[in-house]
Amino acid sequence: MHQAESLALLRRVDQRVRLQLSPLAAAIDQQGYYPEEILRGLGEDGAYAALLPTEAGDGPGLVAAMAAIAEVGAVCGSTAFLAWCQSASVWLLRHAAPRAELRSLMTELAAGRRLGGPGLSNAIKHLAGLEPLRLHAEPCPSGYRISGDLPWVSNIGGGHVFAAAAAASDGGKLVFVADCDAPGVRLCDGPPTAGMAGTRTLSVRLDKVLVPAERVAAEPADFAAFIRRVRPGFVLAQAAAGLGIVQGCLDDIQEANLRDGEQNRWLDHSYQDLAAELADLWREAKTLAPQAEAGQVQPLSVLRLRAAVGELCLRAAMSAQLHAGAAGFLLSHSAQRRLREASFIAIVTPTLKQLRREIDLAEQAQPA
Ligand SMILES: Cc1cc2nc3c(=O)[nH]c(=O)nc-3n(C[C@H](O)[C@H](O)[C@H](O)COP(=O)(O)OP(=O)(O)OC[C@H]3O[C@@H](n4cnc5c(N)ncnc54)[C@H](O)[C@@H]3O)c2cc1C
Repeated sequence: MHQAESLALLRRVDQRVRLQLSPLAAAIDQQGYYPEEILRGLGEDGAYAALLPTEAGDGPGLVAAMAAIAEVGAVCGSTAFLAWCQSASVWLLRHAAPRAELRSLMTELAAGRRLGGPGLSNAIKHLAGLEPLRLHAEPCPSGYRISGDLPWVSNIGGGHVFAAAAAASDGGKLVFVADCDAPGVRLCDGPPTAGMAGTRTLSVRLDKVLVPAERVAAEPADFAAFIRRVRPGFVLAQAAAGLGIVQGCLDDIQEANLRDGEQNRWLDHSYQDLAAELADLWREAKTLAPQAEAGQVQPLSVLRLRAAVGELCLRAAMSAQLHAGAAGFLLSHSAQRRLREASFIAIVTPTLKQLRREIDLAEQAQPA
């Protein structure tokens, strides 16, 4: 049953990507166009709802959600990252405290009627021992008052929501979901970035923002366990954006080989090599995703896969640029754009440096 549902979902996404997204990819990259209608359309297609739990447990699930993100990523890495932001928000609420307000928000996000981003890099780095939490929570009679700032949160704006973590004055830590329009929230543009300009990545400043108890996704007693529950699916879905970018690089290489296949034989990382690596990583991703959904995945395996995706992205994008030659050096060429998209996959949390550090620590902690 869910096989047919997944195929139908991917057909809808494929059509939207080819007809609607493909003509916009350059504007998203170079003019910072935020593809809101496509994000909402992907919601109508069921790309985010694939992550919703079903009574019988037979929904399309994380693998289908990842395949949808990857289809988007093959055409536009920025939109794939935005689709990840939206999917990650749904995934987070799926694992949140069972509150009617959060359930209803999850349904709205899954349908693409509301949009939102997870501002959780800080929390994920915090739990890896890399930085303190940047937001502080003061308990108040109806919930918490939150203050502080997050330098980067994508997929936000008027009417959107964001999730983040904060440290309470008594030492407890919590995860909450706030409205971007709530009193005390300020969204600010940062300096221009080298790419991903269409991802509506803003800094968020909070000044005693009231977060009612119904918007607390994880209470202090559940904080660490919540991040542990959520993180594998988060990281796998993010890896899917990278796998999509690699597919885009393969498409560029194939096109370049039609023109200059003879000379391109002298390059490293051929189409066949990269395609084989991509297939291996997909096989692993499809093994790990159902385990992550069941809460039984080995975190180390997820970290290794995510690091391998970042590394493959960098190799594939550089190879696509070299295969495309001078044409690929034009700012308007997709191979040029994918170089920046691939770099982003390696520098977004969990970054390649954080992954390698965590993998090393986990391997050292394993019994010989
Ligand atoms: C285009 C883009 C989109 C992103 N989208 C999201 C998102 O949706 N959600 C999310 O949680 N994170 C997002 N991030 C943040 C990203 O995941 C990393 O956490 C961030 O880039 C820091 O990377 P790093 O770990 O290499 O830290 P470093 O670059 O080594 O920085 C160290 C620390 O310095 C601080 N810092 C870094 N940049 C700034 C800045 N501009 N202003 C103030 N302090 C700063 C941060 O605390 C950071 O952890 C985004 C980043 C970029 C570039």
